Amino acid sequence: MYSVKRICYQLIIPVVLILISLMVVWKWPQIQEQFKSTRELKAFLVLLPVLPYAIFFIGILMGWRYNNMGLVMGSCVLGLSYFTTLRFAPGQWSNTFYEAYIFLFPLNMVMCSLLIKRYIFTTKGFLSLFLLLFQILIIAILCDQIDFSSSAVVSKFDSLFPFASIRLDDFSNGLKSFFKMDRLVIFKQIPTPAILSFLLCLTYLSVRFIKNRDILLAGYIGSLAAVFLSAAANQPEPASVVFHITAGLILILTNIEASFFMAYNDALTGLPGRRSLNESMMNLGKKYTIAMMDIDHFKKFNDTYGHKTGDDVLKVVGTRLKGISGQAKVFRYGGEEFTAVFPGKSVKESMPHLENFRKMLETSQFVVRLRTRKQSTPVKRGQGPIARQKQIQITISIGVAEPEKQTMTPEKVIKAADKALYKAKRSGRNRVCR
Ligand code: GH3
Ligand code: MG
Ligand code: MG
Repeated sequence: MYSVKRICYQLIIPVVLILISLMVVWKWPQIQEQFKSTRELKAFLVLLPVLPYAIFFIGILMGWRYNNMGLVMGSCVLGLSYFTTLRFAPGQWSNTFYEAYIFLFPLNMVMCSLLIKRYIFTTKGFLSLFLLLFQILIIAILCDQIDFSSSAVVSKFDSLFPFASIRLDDFSNGLKSFFKMDRLVIFKQIPTPAILSFLLCLTYLSVRFIKNRDILLAGYIGSLAAVFLSAAANQPEPASVVFHITAGLILILTNIEASFFMAYNDALTGLPGRRSLNESMMNLGKKYTIAMMDIDHFKKFNDTYGHKTGDDVLKVVGTRLKGISGQAKVFRYGGEEFTAVFPGKSVKESMPHLENFRKMLETSQFVVRLRTRKQSTPVKRGQGPIARQKQIQITISIGVAEPEKQTMTPEKVIKAADKALYKAKRSGRNRVCR
């Protein structure tokens, strides 16, 4: 249930932007009329075809600043797609460069998605850039944008290896007719191999997205869909311009959203982190309750089963905490400590929810994977960690407090809850104290 919610949330940016761009393309004649009637907006219409390049440039700068090769390459690939569409496909796609690039575009986007969070100046980064430049060169030669046939090297090659030369010509003609194939007539504007390439890459990215629920992958899916719409419309203005602006914006906005998410959420448990708690504190009303929670004898888990298993326990507790009743907002305070804030509730009103949670945790059996740290034989070492399962029990101590005076700040309430937590620990753990 939570995963479906998360998937829908991650898809908001691409879906909303694509819907807006569809509306803009649909209502373009009216928008154009409106723009033409105002002098300042008329200038905007003239500048519109360059706008996608400005957005891709911002994407490249942002990717460079974030040291994220996926964003840099994604923006370059989109720039190339836009250039190819404007230059070679104005209303007629019988141009090999366009046909070849529109086939390769989805594959390039998949390559970019594999470079998510990868640094720029790495072997993989350079290799992908080389691959992009290499394919441009190949298709430029293939569609006679660069003509080598009259050069001395090629004439020499032709005379020395006439058979190989004929073979190469055959291969190039074969590729040309492959890119042109139009068996699938659903989208008349896009050649069949390109449609299949889009479908295959969209499916691959969607499967990865459903598995990882990473908003950056949602960004690549959205960009791919926007460029598909541009190709299907096959109309330079407004469709190609609008859909390429959309594709660039989707990449940029999903990256901003991902950074925002990382800053405010804890990577291990997926719960909001300390920064979120601090902001939440500034926006509380007069009546609220704060509960500080601390897992009992957690150090023992780490010492007995290893740090990784300890992390698994934290993840499990985090997941359970998301389901706490009473509309509490939960945060990872740090280490094995969590905070629950009940806005608009007194301690008396919050107690039953906390008590229920404590009991639920106490009576649950948690299955954790045990990873053996030492592996005796070299053969075993090659096979990676051996995972066994074990049922363990977890208990938690909770300290609760509320503002006793109107002037009591949330920071002081946290301190009071901390004190109560200490009391819970001292009086035997696995209990809620105030
Ligand atoms: P008590 O019942 O008194 O709370 O005992 P405790 O062992 O839980 O308390 P203590 O504060 O001594 O130990 C907390 C341990 O939590 C120490 C640290 O190694 C571990 N820890 C903190 N953060 C993490 C984390 O992110 N992952 C893992 N695996 N361990 C963590
Ligand atoms: Mg602690
Ligand atoms: Mg503890």
